Amino acid sequence: MSDVRVRFAPSPTGTLHIGSARTALYNFLFARHNGGTMVLRIEDTDRKRSRRDHESSIIRDLHWLGLQADEGPDVGGPYGPYRQSERTEFYEAGVRRLLESGWAYPCFCTQERLDALKEQQLARGEMPKYDRLCLHLPAETVRARLEAGEEAAIRFKVPAGDVSFEDLIHGPITFSSEVIGDFIIKRTDGGFAYNYAVVIDDAGMKITHVIRGEDHITNTARQLMLYQALGEPAPVYGHHSLIHGPDGGKLSKRHGATSIGEFRDMGYLAPAVVNYLALLSWHPGDEREKFSLAELVAEFDLARVSRSPAIFDLDKLNWLNGLYIRELSPAALSEQVRPYLHEEGIELADGQREVVSAAIQPNLVVLEDAPRYARLFVDDLILSASVHLEALHETGVESVLALFKDALAATTGEYLDLETAKAVLHQVAEAGKARGIKGKAIYKPLRVALTGLDQGPELSYLVAGLGRSRIEQRVDAALAYLAEREGA
Ligand code: GLU
Repeated sequence: MSDVRVRFAPSPTGTLHIGSARTALYNFLFARHNGGTMVLRIEDTDRKRSRRDHESSIIRDLHWLGLQADEGPDVGGPYGPYRQSERTEFYEAGVRRLLESGWAYPCFCTQERLDALKEQQLARGEMPKYDRLCLHLPAETVRARLEAGEEAAIRFKVPAGDVSFEDLIHGPITFSSEVIGDFIIKRTDGGFAYNYAVVIDDAGMKITHVIRGEDHITNTARQLMLYQALGEPAPVYGHHSLIHGPDGGKLSKRHGATSIGEFRDMGYLAPAVVNYLALLSWHPGDEREKFSLAELVAEFDLARVSRSPAIFDLDKLNWLNGLYIRELSPAALSEQVRPYLHEEGIELADGQREVVSAAIQPNLVVLEDAPRYARLFVDDLILSASVHLEALHETGVESVLALFKDALAATTGEYLDLETAKAVLHQVAEAGKARGIKGKAIYKPLRVALTGLDQGPELSYLVAGLGRSRIEQRVDAALAYLAEREGA
């Protein structure tokens, strides 16, 4: 293990969003690539919006993606507790240190005063900023007001001068402290500000690298000032771009699914989602698009992460998902599609499950597509309703169907295996050839008789997956149709 320590710090105010999942992934890849440690820290300081069930669902989604943290509220670790709501003593201790060293001071200003101040500053065309009224209160006055029980927030005394840092993705960044007013680190209600709690936690958890979205870049200036005041070494920062929709706007509900859970429910596979998220703003610079998690760990490099906004491209995710679906064994695929089929009332028999999965495999973009393609293996077929009946009007169709029935009759069992199904079709083809019926003239009417459709899975899969009883019924229905037509 190296001393590289990163953290993923979600607020449990909702489910895991794909943007946050990408942050988690980049942290995970960076940690694993460098033999370091990934910490999961739950930032639940917003008591009203934070929920324990959101925390569990975030952890479940991270596990589903394969991004387990090494330390966190669910697994423990040497720098816990890992929920901010349980770390009050650390925040209190830090506030005491900053007060003692003169880097923080109590502020008695009311909201009314602050609002009026802001209004006046804006009216003068100035940037709103706390005017340090309470910084200049005599120590005696402060003590007396506190002893009298007056409510006070604690403000950080922002040092003069520039704050600069070297961002791992953006390069050098400088902020002038002129634009940063003395900010509150502890509120009058006793709660702690995000920028403050994060520093206490990152320092306390020995975080060496902070990898997060670029919406936090301005926070970094405040956080670096706090490190300086606390005399703690600051981590290295890397701010990745945010995910945008195809229309350029920040990715949101109006673009469709945005949470990992939604993608999972639609039947995206975890390795495809991980692969896709990694490629949103990273690429090793060659032709490859498909990467397993292990390959990503081996190759991921923050220096190759693009600064441009990442555009969410559903077509690419779909394409990758199809690739991963086609890699599954029929047994694995059949397990994966089972709940989707069940949901639509489709229960496959043991003997047909794998063949049907293999049959529909080339068509699936997401697992949710399975019922649409599998339905034909279980639903009753009303042949007369088919719009492809003219395929049965060709000469020789009766003999094709009869030959097929004969070949099928020579086999046993309700469901044929794929090899036997192929042998049956081969036999029909040979016998047909001897009668001058070939190729399409054999396969097209057979397909229509078996499915009512003019395209679909390979015939051999149909012959194996439909089952003897269903096939016999359908072929007999086709023969009856032809007999009736003859008589008409
Ligand atoms: N809880 C913050 C968020 O979800 C974490 C920010 C950070 O990584 O410092 O945005």
